[in-house]
Amino acid sequence: MQDRPLLNRRLEGFSTTIFAEMSALAARTGAINLGQGFPDTDGPAQIAEAAARAVMDGRGNQYPPGQGVPELRQAVAEHQRRWYGLSFDPDGEVLVTAGATEAIAASMLALLEPGDEVIAFEPFYDSYAACIAMAGAERVPLTLRAPDFRPDLDALADAIGPRTRLLLLNSPHNPTGMVLTREELTAIAELAVARDLLVVTDEVYEHLAYDREHLPLSALPGMRERTVSISSAAKTFSFTGWKVGWLTASAELVAAVRTAKQFLTYVNAGPFQYAVAEALRLPEGYFAELRADLRAKRDLLSAGLADAGFEVYRPQGTYFVTTDIAPLGERDGFAFCRALPERCGLVAVPNAVFYDDPDAGRTQVRFAFCKRKDVLEAAVDRLGGL
Ligand code: PMP
Ligand code: GLN
Repeated sequence: MQDRPLLNRRLEGFSTTIFAEMSALAARTGAINLGQGFPDTDGPAQIAEAAARAVMDGRGNQYPPGQGVPELRQAVAEHQRRWYGLSFDPDGEVLVTAGATEAIAASMLALLEPGDEVIAFEPFYDSYAACIAMAGAERVPLTLRAPDFRPDLDALADAIGPRTRLLLLNSPHNPTGMVLTREELTAIAELAVARDLLVVTDEVYEHLAYDREHLPLSALPGMRERTVSISSAAKTFSFTGWKVGWLTASAELVAAVRTAKQFLTYVNAGPFQYAVAEALRLPEGYFAELRADLRAKRDLLSAGLADAGFEVYRPQGTYFVTTDIAPLGERDGFAFCRALPERCGLVAVPNAVFYDDPDAGRTQVRFAFCKRKDVLEAAVDRLGGL
């Protein structure tokens, strides 16, 4: 064997994802898994049946078109118009991807040159750092700080330099639950236009904003031609295993991202694409119910965590709640999460893994509340044993 590490330097330090590690810990110990964010109840039966029907009817069992089946591209375009008044051409301005994960990866691989800088909110969703690294680019963190995790827009302006190519934004934000306001989005858009930056927005929690509406950045003046908006069926329809995602952008941006995407998976999830097309057209009641259900679960788990002595940062969106364990006399989220199954039969995720500056999140721990009510009640019960 050659005398050099097998894993290339760009991926050094990216070992097993924290979600895999913590889900394995839950499986090993039988603890309640509030770590990895996936619902413990599948999405609508009608949509699952649509997927089964597509398989049996032979729709999508062979390679679908590279940009996604026309039915889904049409449904994505309709969704953007129905919820945000945005108009995208399903034939050139919509691209179906293997989850939001591939949309993010393909965007980074397509739009960045080695040495470019990408500014992103820290704590980052874990794939951002890895995708930026795979593209040979450099991440520049903009740290969101407790208790409210608002972005510091002066710091953002200062962080933009000659090498900045792109802003990678996520709102509603995982793990903090922060949802950008119209004023913040407007200020970010003005900076992007003034400094001629591309923006990639991760909007997978677009339908899980509780205290204020989610607004897509691409709706703001000057943003349509420079923004790639990403979403997915995982969170909105509770089918995280289907891995159906999509992006909307100008034809030029879609063409660029498609060039990378076609050599990653080429295509995926053929029959599921038809089912997701149907899901996107569900009546408003479905979306309202999902939001109301998760809002109630947020309140249930947040109250339980607060009663158990955690400092709780109430999330405005997503299905995660970030807490601080310092009031419990704890100093290290990692150690706390590794011991939690034994201490009280629960699994959570240490936010430190989402920071470049681990001190900024050392005592933060994230809990997922996308679980059945009885499971959350049992979790709250167990928290009492801490
Ligand atoms: N972005 C964020 C912020 C996420 O939390 C997740 C996890 N679902 C993803 C992207 C990945 O989405 P998908 O499962 O559709 O690839
Ligand atoms: N998005 C999910 C979370 O934040 C995890 C998805 C994954 O495991 N890649 O928990």
